[in-house]
This record gives sequence, structure tokens and C-alpha cells, in this order.
Amino acid sequence: MTGAATAGIRAPRFAERLARARAAAGAAGLDALLIGVGPELRYLAGYAALPLERLTLLVVPAAPGSPLTLIAPRLEATPARSCPAAATGAVTVATWEETEDPMALVASVLATATGRAADSLSAVAVSDGMRAAFVLSLQGALPVARFSLASAVLRGLRMRKDSDEVALLREAAHAADRVVEAIAHGPLVGRTEADVAREVRDRLVAEGHEHAEFWIVASGPNSASPHHDAGDRVIAAGEPVVIDIGGQMGGYGSDITRTIWVDGGDPALGPDADFARLYEVLRDAQAAATAAVRPGVAAEAIDAVARDAITAAGFGPNFIHRTGHGIGLEGHEDPYIVAGNAEPLETAMAFSVEPGIYLEGRFGARIEDTVVCGPDGPDVLNELTRELLVVRG
Ligand code: ZN
Ligand code: ZN
Repeated sequence: MTGAATAGIRAPRFAERLARARAAAGAAGLDALLIGVGPELRYLAGYAALPLERLTLLVVPAAPGSPLTLIAPRLEATPARSCPAAATGAVTVATWEETEDPMALVASVLATATGRAADSLSAVAVSDGMRAAFVLSLQGALPVARFSLASAVLRGLRMRKDSDEVALLREAAHAADRVVEAIAHGPLVGRTEADVAREVRDRLVAEGHEHAEFWIVASGPNSASPHHDAGDRVIAAGEPVVIDIGGQMGGYGSDITRTIWVDGGDPALGPDADFARLYEVLRDAQAAATAAVRPGVAAEAIDAVARDAITAAGFGPNFIHRTGHGIGLEGHEDPYIVAGNAEPLETAMAFSVEPGIYLEGRFGARIEDTVVCGPDGPDVLNELTRELLVVRG
């Protein structure tokens, strides 16, 4: 299959999200949310704006009924007005000219929305990835306001995916499944990791991703390095290859890892006993952690299920990273599946479950799925087998 995502975020979603964001901002005692270019802007307005040095800013005042304004440089007026939140009238676009000071526009938009002078506002929150230069300018324009991070009020909204978001995540997961499946058909023997990584990128795009974001191909001893950068090493028969790939589809991330074994068609070069045991432990730990997903279970408890199983088999010191991360508009976002995060899982949270075992200098393995917390248990978006795939060529 080729082509773009068939699922998508329906336009009325954005007005709903803006209303919830505004209510959450009010409950947090903020005068306004100030959202720059990035995933928060895409979440609230459907606007994947260019990350320019020129200010683009969505002003979300907390006061119910007050106007929502998307401030954009004049030359970006067309894409700004075309984003779903603007096209449906949920937000109004205000543009600033090349020679104008955009902070004066921000101040006047805030004054109109709040009925108070900008230099008397007491608390605003800015999007987490906003450029420091913009934050400092905003602090100059709002001299008495206390600044905080918008993620404090938006994370609760963004963690719980709506059905449109889950549909996109599922479509992205299935596309990534097909890419790993195609790679696992081989041939792999005699090719460099970098060459296979190139094929991964091409296939992710051919399967409908806007772009590939990462393409870990880690062969032989490199498989013991979780974030190995695919290089010039030539893949040989008789070794494992960790393939951890993903990209964005309709703005939402795919992220799958499968570990395969390359025997080159020679059964004598099949998985050695040590690797086979390691893989079995890992597969069972990943399955147990996934099965434990349900509403009310602490995020850290999912990590503990995987870690306890791996530790019981003697590989505890070889599982050197957290079990997972949230996934959505960002490849890594809340909730993190890690010791210390006691936050209970809730229905429609989406995250990876990806334990790994790494024996430095020898080999390693990781298995990763994207999982949505369903009302009664896990909804595993990836459908590719988790049994060890053996590649003949
Ligand atoms: Zn991954
Ligand atoms: Zn991941």
C-alpha cells in the first residue's frame, strides 16, 4: 500500500480542544496560554507552522468567550488562515508586518481578550519548546506576569487520545509493521546497516509516512547499543539485527522495534543458545508488561513487570533504559513508563512498551510495540509477530 494517511483529525476537534485548554488554563489560575510553533500549536489549531525566527503565537485567553487569536507574520497569512482552527472560525488570524514589533500586537491582543492592560497580567503559560528569544520578549511585554509551562495544563488533554488520534496512530503502526516485515524478508547478508536504513526510510515514506524520523539498524555487537547509528558495518549470517524505526503519519508517530536473526540460509548459523534464551526472556517480559496495561495501573508498575521478569532471569543489569514513552504528535511525550512515575494509566493513553536486554560486546535485543490503554486492557497497535524472525538471506 502507498499514499498518505487516510485517517485524520476532524475539524470540529480543534474547537473542542481549545475549549478544554481554555478551561484548564482558567482552573490553573492563568490569564492566558501563549502557544508557539510546535506540537502544542498543531494539537490546538491543526497548524504545522514553520519554525521561523518570526513570531507565530496562538493566544488562548482563559476567560470564557474571549477571542482566540493566532498571531502570524504577514507572509505566513495563507497557511495560518488555512489551518482547521482558523478555517472553521474557532480562532481569528492577526498578522504583523515585516517592520512591525510583534510584541506590540501580542500586548494589544491580550488586552482586548482579557480587558486588562498587558503589563498588568499576572500569570501566563508558554509552550514548552518556545524559543528563548520569544520567551524573553514576552517577558518584556508582560513585565509582572509569572511565566510557567503550558504542558502543565495541556499534558492531561494530550495524553488521552481521541478516536481520530488513535486511528492515525494505528494506521502509522500498521504502515511501520509492513516496513519491518519487508526488511525481514531480506536480503540482508552482505549489505551495510546504512544501506538497510536507507531502505527503511524509503519504505516508511512509500507506506504513507510524511517522513521517516529514525532508522536504527544495529547488527551483531552493535545490537547491544540501544540507539546505535546505522553505519558501514556489513551484516553477516549468524547474528542478530535490531531494527527500531518510525516516522510521522498524519502528524502522529509510528515506533516499532523488532529483533531479527540472520542465518543466511544456513541452519548451523541460526540463533545460538545464549541469544535464544535472552530473546525468550525478553519476549515474555514484553508480553507480560503489555498484558498488565489497564486503567488505574501506575505507569511505573508496567515498567516493574518488564524489569522484574528480566531481573528474575538474571539480565536485570542489562536492561538499561525505561520501558516506554508516550507517543502522539511527539515521538516521546507523556506518559513515561518508568520507575518513579506513579501516575495511573487512563483509557486512551498511548505509549510504547519496549524492554531490551543488552550484552555489551556480544549482542542485544529489543521488542517494541505502540500500545493504547483500552477500558479493559491493552490495545496493541502493532500486529507484526513478536516471535524471533529468522532471515535466510
Ligand atoms: Zn523505537
Ligand atoms: Zn520508542
